[in-house]
Amino acid sequence: MAAERLTELARRIADGERAALARAITLVESRRPAHRADAAALVQELLPRTGRAVRVGITGAPGVGKSTLIDALGQSLVTSGERVAVLAVDPSSTRTGGAILGDKTRMGTLAASQQAFIRPSPSAGSLGGVAARTREAMLLVEAAGFTVVVVETVGVGQSELAVADMVDTFVALMLPGAGDELQGIKKGLVEQADIIVVNKADGDALPAARRAAAELLSAVKILASEVPPEVMTVSARTGERLDALWQAVVRHRAGLEETGRLCERRRSQNVVWMRDMIADGLNAFLAERAGGALVVATEAVRDGRLAPSAAAASILARLAKDDAVEAH
Ligand code: GDP
Repeated sequence: MAAERLTELARRIADGERAALARAITLVESRRPAHRADAAALVQELLPRTGRAVRVGITGAPGVGKSTLIDALGQSLVTSGERVAVLAVDPSSTRTGGAILGDKTRMGTLAASQQAFIRPSPSAGSLGGVAARTREAMLLVEAAGFTVVVVETVGVGQSELAVADMVDTFVALMLPGAGDELQGIKKGLVEQADIIVVNKADGDALPAARRAAAELLSAVKILASEVPPEVMTVSARTGERLDALWQAVVRHRAGLEETGRLCERRRSQNVVWMRDMIADGLNAFLAERAGGALVVATEAVRDGRLAPSAAAASILARLAKDDAVEAH
């Protein structure tokens, strides 16, 4: 894209034009090299306008109530004057199937608001790639004036760790009495989560939810190394205690700011981000330059015909040789 057109797109995003924002996110999600270069230039141009939003990650198993909670919390934030963007990280999703997060039909009321912007996960790719593109989308929505960015992910696998690496405050949702308490602890979520929320604390499930929260609280006190995460119950369905959840988010973020840890956290996140993007680029380079050889080498290593070290050396030598040819 010509420089003037990029500048024009950046200006329209800064003016808060939704169509321009949607188009720019499509650009950052593209894997075509020309689009990647445009996306990088666009993000660079908008960088001074980024970083002001409250960045919240929300994770939890399918069915725990993430979309119900984000819908209800988002609406109440919009009512109090915030502009809320919801992005999703779900490497397993595609646009036609799978657990499509952030789908408009799942957050119908919030999606209808002019003060909200909901974007499903980029279609399937490596976790590193999806996470990198979500980070760029986060900067774009910030530049467009959104004051709260919610990054949603399914709490299975590694994607929750990637999300914890891109937000200020990381919220883990749990179900009462589903054995989730212990699961979460096993997965090391306690180290990642800033706030642990037991959802569906309503109706008949209320006593079980309170019990689960009490058990979690004693567990995190033992397990957490530094500041233990806050533990609370909410009901996304009735809206009960969602205000308390938001206050906990604001309190956590204020704590980070006061101690200078917000700056530090975001700086190190940026370095991780750069490294992720380099790794992603290297993987794409590898696939492009030595994809076939890699398949052959993988088979040979699997069959025991070739030592892993010899296979790796030959692939790396091949990349280095191609590179040297190109440099001349
Ligand atoms: P997600 O897969 O984590 O996004 O979960 P959903 O938000 O789609 O919720 C899964 C199911 O749980 C739906 O049937 C919701 O209506 C229900 N649900 C969500 N939050 C609550 C809650 O606070 N209380 C009760 N009783 N049900 C809830």
